[in-house]
Amino acid sequence: MNVLVVGGAGYIGSHCVRQLVEAGHRPVVLDSLVFGHRGAVSPEIPFYEGDLGDPAVVGPILEDEKIDLVMHFAAFAYVGESVTDPLKYYFNNVVATLRLLETMLEKKVMRFVFSSTCATFGIPERMPITEDVSQLPINPYGQTKLDIENALKAIAHAHGMSFAAFRYFNAAGAAEDANIGEAHDPETHLIPLAIDAATGRRPALKVFGNDYPTPDGTCLRDYVHVDDLSRAHIAVFDKLAEPGTGLFYNLGTGTPTSVLEVIQAVEKVSGMKVPHEYAPRRAGDPPALYADSTKAKTELNWEVKYPTIEPIVATAWAWHKTHAVGYDD
Ligand code: UDP
Repeated sequence: MNVLVVGGAGYIGSHCVRQLVEAGHRPVVLDSLVFGHRGAVSPEIPFYEGDLGDPAVVGPILEDEKIDLVMHFAAFAYVGESVTDPLKYYFNNVVATLRLLETMLEKKVMRFVFSSTCATFGIPERMPITEDVSQLPINPYGQTKLDIENALKAIAHAHGMSFAAFRYFNAAGAAEDANIGEAHDPETHLIPLAIDAATGRRPALKVFGNDYPTPDGTCLRDYVHVDDLSRAHIAVFDKLAEPGTGLFYNLGTGTPTSVLEVIQAVEKVSGMKVPHEYAPRRAGDPPALYADSTKAKTELNWEVKYPTIEPIVATAWAWHKTHAVGYDD
């Protein structure tokens, strides 16, 4: 299939582009390069720099490249910033995405794969999180993703577009060959920050809270390898052939891992100490978030290749060793 990957130069999008090639599809990338990196996409892949919310950019790409399906990874994703600058999040994550969907309808491109998030669940009523847990986001980031999930249901109903929305838990790790990996600016994620603390590139890691109601007092998260996530996105393609299909999947390994366990994994894999200190809780952090991905396993035959934290961290470490400061750009 000819697949437009919007946000294909970002962390998850760039890994998905490579998985698409491996699965025999033809990816085309559209990225604004606001957060994406040109170096994350092979020069052999057709690449367009531009705004997903601009029909004058998206329309011709859909036509010229004969796009069959659009995957959308191009959201802003800093929870804290979404609280202080909500309009930025509503404009990009909601308004621009609605424009993208409108352009797709106009050009009759009727299959869509959407990158959603476990942040749509807020502080979940039960754990592990199945798809039917109530979605009550506690920040604008999660709300903007939920807004699009709801818009997709209505668009599927009204116009017969088919879609799948994947709610990721903590995307982590890097490609097996270590040529692409995680490179955010600013970086806020635990694994790259712990690696940087170990190598001395950054100061001691601050562990946000050690008085949570969890076994070691630090937060539990579900770290899932970025290539495992990508493979689920491709496995769903066959299910989107039927017009009006709407599918939701929670993607995680189901294994809760504490902040201290992540630190231990980084120490084991790198052979270095991770200097760390306890700091107050970070606003908006639920004590525990982990997935029940039975639905993805059953319906998509999705099997994670990296079920535990250490091999995930090993791929992040291998990427870090050759790209300590991320991409050249
Ligand atoms: N965390 C931490 N110190 C940091 C960054 C993150 O203790 O410098 C914790 C954070 O409170 C959460 C976990 O690590 O419990 C994962 O955070 P991350 O920002 O990587 O992902 P999130 O779960 O917020 O999507």
